[in-house]
Amino acid sequence: MGNWHQFSGIFGELDSLKSSAQTIFINGDIYIDSENKVQNIFIENDQVKAHDVDVSAFPNANVVDLKGKAIFPGFMDTHCHLLETGFVLNVGVNLREVKNSTSEIASKLRDKIAESQKGETILGVGFEMDDYTKWSLKDLAMIDAVSPDNPVMLVDMSGHNLLLNTAGMRFCNITDENFKDNIGGSSNRENGHLTGMFREKSQQKPADEIFAKFGHEDLAKEGARKLIDYWASMGYTSIVDLMGAIGFRLHKPDIFYALEKENRLKMRVNWCYTLFDVDGVDEAALLKGKDTDLVRFYGGKIFVDGAYAGGEPWTTWEHSNGGFGLQQVYTDDSVGEKYNLNRIVLRAEELSLNMHYHTQGDRAIQAVLDALEYTKNKLGSIKQTHTLAHVAFLTPEQMKLIANYGGRVVVTVQPAFCKIEDNLTQFFAGHTNEAYQIKKMFDSGVTVGMSTDFSVSPIDMVSPAVIMGVGMSGAGNPEVYQSLSMDEMIRGFTELNSKVCAHSDVGDLHVGKKADFLVVDKSFYGLTAKELQNSPPKTLETWVSGVKRF
Ligand SMILES: [Zn+2]
Repeated sequence: MGNWHQFSGIFGELDSLKSSAQTIFINGDIYIDSENKVQNIFIENDQVKAHDVDVSAFPNANVVDLKGKAIFPGFMDTHCHLLETGFVLNVGVNLREVKNSTSEIASKLRDKIAESQKGETILGVGFEMDDYTKWSLKDLAMIDAVSPDNPVMLVDMSGHNLLLNTAGMRFCNITDENFKDNIGGSSNRENGHLTGMFREKSQQKPADEIFAKFGHEDLAKEGARKLIDYWASMGYTSIVDLMGAIGFRLHKPDIFYALEKENRLKMRVNWCYTLFDVDGVDEAALLKGKDTDLVRFYGGKIFVDGAYAGGEPWTTWEHSNGGFGLQQVYTDDSVGEKYNLNRIVLRAEELSLNMHYHTQGDRAIQAVLDALEYTKNKLGSIKQTHTLAHVAFLTPEQMKLIANYGGRVVVTVQPAFCKIEDNLTQFFAGHTNEAYQIKKMFDSGVTVGMSTDFSVSPIDMVSPAVIMGVGMSGAGNPEVYQSLSMDEMIRGFTELNSKVCAHSDVGDLHVGKKADFLVVDKSFYGLTAKELQNSPPKTLETWVSGVKRF
């Protein structure tokens, strides 16, 4: 016991040394924002203390010779799903490479079930279908054949479509007779029989039932941690984690707080509360006030429309396959006051809650802009941060309206989507080429943040360098997607993303800001899209709050 006390004493000392540490980085390409470089940067405790200091005046400082390497402000990913995806990947089947193939889903499922207990619930994520409405009883029978006794729940790559087998439907008490689609949802039926494909908001009941009975907090925590470690290794210092999808909420912020306490959290995590109506705004507002240094509550997240990849963004024009997409909320009280977006946005402002909106179609975007205008007229101004995520079909007029809010209303985009969602003419016909005009957003003065929306972006398209390459090459299709500059990419990942996060203490390395940065073997500037692809800068270290975490 005596020895143990000695040990903890030493650790205590080390901790206090660390927390008063002074570090000066010299001899590198040290960027303190997307434009400005300094000769050296002086870090004290968790903050940037000064630039271009006389190194000899700080004899106790740890001086790090960068030997020509570069420092950039920490990159942020302002829309991703590390918690849910880490959880499902850690316990379930990875279906990421499976496209339009029921037999492949079945074969991966068969392997998983061979190593599982009889009756155990099986989760999976990542499959993709060109047309989810085509999932039939025949497909269901193929899945059932390999999983007669195990409830199975598989989520597609977009998170907007959920598949159950027959045992899964039984497990969730879902029958042909009792199941009713939610507002903003749909489910496939053949001759009145459910085929197991639950789309958009109709996922809610199956997902809630399965997650409620699933448990495995420890596996959820390890899954999230693995992905966070990976994000840190790519130079990210901060994420916004949505902790939920269109039909369900996987609400486990305590995992992040616990990791921080255990000194195992390598990035800042800003978490959201997925909500579906006005009541959810009140619930979300109660979650404020628990912020720590690394773990912060962003605000509410609401789906205004369905997914682009599934053909369901809410648009003003009719899709090739009919309809105007799936709206999740309304612009009036017609289906109930609580689904009225005007009331939802007004309530969020009244309760000082930031909001993050899933908006892909022009009509969904307009619904949010109208609700903001309504709220502004009622309250005099907009004070919170309102983030529109994805914004596939953002019109030039809407860009102007957003820019006019001067940073209170912002967007987060996923340049990788230009690559992975490039073949959707079956839904959008002549409108496909209007999607994701990121350069025009920049040119209109919109605050544009960058994000991955992982796991919608596959794992090989989540590193900042790869995303920069996609942006700068116009996703390999510059006729359709105008190329972005490196400066725009860096600003999108750093200072503009700090506006999306609604935090002013991060985003650049000016004096007084948090010491969140990455050390790379060479600068991003000067590299072509091709060079970024072939030999991207390698992240050597990632620092958050003045502590080296990767
Ligand atoms: Zn998402």
